[in-house]
Amino acid sequence: MPVDILAIAAHPDDVELTCGGTLVKLKQRGYRFGIVDLTRGEMGTRGTPEIRAREALRAAEILGAEFREALDLGDGGLRRGREEELAVIDVVRREKPRLVLTPYPDDRHPDHRRAGQLVTDACYYAGTRKLETNYPAHRPQQTIYFSTYLGWTPRFLVDVTDVIETRRAAMRAFESQFHKEGSTEPETVLAQKSFLDMIEARAREYGAMINVEFAEGFLAARPPRIDDLVQAFEGFEPGF
Ligand SMILES: [Zn+2]
Repeated sequence: MPVDILAIAAHPDDVELTCGGTLVKLKQRGYRFGIVDLTRGEMGTRGTPEIRAREALRAAEILGAEFREALDLGDGGLRRGREEELAVIDVVRREKPRLVLTPYPDDRHPDHRRAGQLVTDACYYAGTRKLETNYPAHRPQQTIYFSTYLGWTPRFLVDVTDVIETRRAAMRAFESQFHKEGSTEPETVLAQKSFLDMIEARAREYGAMINVEFAEGFLAARPPRIDDLVQAFEGFEPGF
């Protein structure tokens, strides 16, 4: 059974930090989604690929994903040759998503940058009929980008206020990666409490832009259609 949305990112936990709330909201509306991690996160300072795989499955369960799987394209040197492109094309064709969520192809972390480029290209090529792989051609309607490390002004925002607890719980599932009282793992920037505070502050800032408590921000090559322009700005701080 196809999914409506496929979130494809570089490392296990990238999705939770960027668009987890949006996925929960879409699920509430009856849409089905899956998560694909392009690497197993084997270069991470903390945890092991096995621990991270367990944590990733737990987080996916909390968010309500239909499935989560990891490709093995090389953490800390994500490969994006033809072989890797075909691997992503095959996942897209197999799952037939209408939307694909992926990192914006510009970021401090090269894996995020490469993931965004690889996924954008693969989504296009997946629709090429004469390109034969294990599944028939399918081209998603739209590739939508989320920001990872580098923040930018989003082109549209999704209110995630009422699912923020679920989003927090999914992040907490990555016990080896993020701040946890009493952990004996080596200290990293991501494991400091301030990191999760920053992630949440970003959601608050985006939320303030649209008069809600928390939001997640996105960008796409085409802007989304708005059916009610008056309603779209209702309740905002006036005067802009
Ligand atoms: Zn990452």
